[in-house]
Amino acid sequence: MTTELESVADFRERARIWLRDNMPTAPSTELKPDSDEAWQRARQLQRILFDGGFAGICYPAEYGGRGLTPAHQRAFNKESAGYEMPLLLNVPTLSICAATLAELGTDEQKRAHLPAVLKGDEVLVQFLSEPNGGSDLAGLTTRAERDGERWILNGSKIWSSGAYAADYGLCLARTNWDVPKHRGLTLFIVPVHAPGVTVQRIKQVTGSTEFCQEFFDDVALPADAVLGEVDAGWEAASRLLNHERAALGGTSPYISGHTVHMGAETISLVQVAKATGQWEDSRVREDIGEARAMRVVRDQLIAHVTKSIMSGALPPAAGSITRLFSAETEWMQTDMRVRIAGSVAATQAPGDPVNSEKIGLDYLFRNAWSLAGGSTEMARNIISERVLGMPREYAADRDVPFNQVKRGR
Ligand SMILES: Cc1cc2nc3c(=O)[nH]c(=O)nc-3n(C[C@H](O)[C@H](O)[C@H](O)COP(=O)(O)OP(=O)(O)OC[C@H]3O[C@@H](n4cnc5c(N)ncnc54)[C@H](O)[C@@H]3O)c2cc1C
Repeated sequence: MTTELESVADFRERARIWLRDNMPTAPSTELKPDSDEAWQRARQLQRILFDGGFAGICYPAEYGGRGLTPAHQRAFNKESAGYEMPLLLNVPTLSICAATLAELGTDEQKRAHLPAVLKGDEVLVQFLSEPNGGSDLAGLTTRAERDGERWILNGSKIWSSGAYAADYGLCLARTNWDVPKHRGLTLFIVPVHAPGVTVQRIKQVTGSTEFCQEFFDDVALPADAVLGEVDAGWEAASRLLNHERAALGGTSPYISGHTVHMGAETISLVQVAKATGQWEDSRVREDIGEARAMRVVRDQLIAHVTKSIMSGALPPAAGSITRLFSAETEWMQTDMRVRIAGSVAATQAPGDPVNSEKIGLDYLFRNAWSLAGGSTEMARNIISERVLGMPREYAADRDVPFNQVKRGR
């Protein structure tokens, strides 16, 4: 028997009333995203969504979700503007890690993790990049070796967002050194608090300590820590990376809340222009118009690419198109805010009318937009090779057993 889905319009109306009655309005100052309070608050808010029946809107009902469509999620996201939402849990927990688990996990793995994630009890992160480089992901050297039924993990990962606040990390490790690099990898679900895991926080130029480096010293993992198949970790990671591009590019159906991909600006350019007395300046107005046009095009592109991936007209790798365009849009917004704010973006004058500290910090962090989720150069490679069908980039190590590949110095 098939039960009929609630219409998007009815769902939206129900969400509107529920949000009004249950969710706090967005506070004027946000908690620092790298603080324990911010994570505790996100977990609490996620629990409120879960209890109200608005968590995991596109996740299957048997694993704690609502089994609804991306259109329902989009409707909810629009209604949630102005409310305090657990946005910290969107990336990578909900939109990347849990999405990969839902696709590749065994029934036991899904039952063990998905309801806990949707209730806010579990935070998941990604252990992919390594100190030797993140773009050549398949060239990683963190190793997992069999020890009877168990696996023993050794190595190091880096740039893991939010790992200090997490419960599990999806970790790509080398399990076979006798085959070419893409064929000897396995994806593991690693408990962040397991003996042998050390998490160190990294301080960025912005002062944030959101990034971490992990060291794995003889970490023992049970056989059921493998996500997907042994030595088929590249296929698993490719699924994960598709979710990552979708999350960063705005096409993920698992992102909940009003985000920059829905036209939200962290600080409005109009507000900055008015506060600095430049609203009547035609040059400034031109800039604001150009930035607005980019956001409109980005939103249209997201809608078009999402629809095309869902219908099969474009491959999932097309998420790289919106991933690239979103990065370009964010760069432009950030640069324009600094241009309009002028020196105040660097000085944070007393009585500051434009939140100049945030403008300055956003500017320092702007390179992250072209690295997070794979760099924009790699996105261009993916678009040319996997969307446009152009020849693959040459790689000397592609078909060579990994133990024969010459590696760094
Ligand atoms: C905000 C943010 C969050 C992140 N979160 C995580 C996380 O949670 N987990 C995680 O594992 N990693 C995370 N990362 C790391 C991210 O995935 C890497 O920064 C990214 O993959 C690039 O790797 P890299 O920094 O080692 O640069 P490298 O791979 O060393 O590349 C350096 C430069 O060379 C360019 N380049 C490299 N190879 C090529 C090529 N073949 N063609 C053209 N150009 C190339 C790159 O584009 C880049 O500009 C995060 C990064 C940021 C900024």
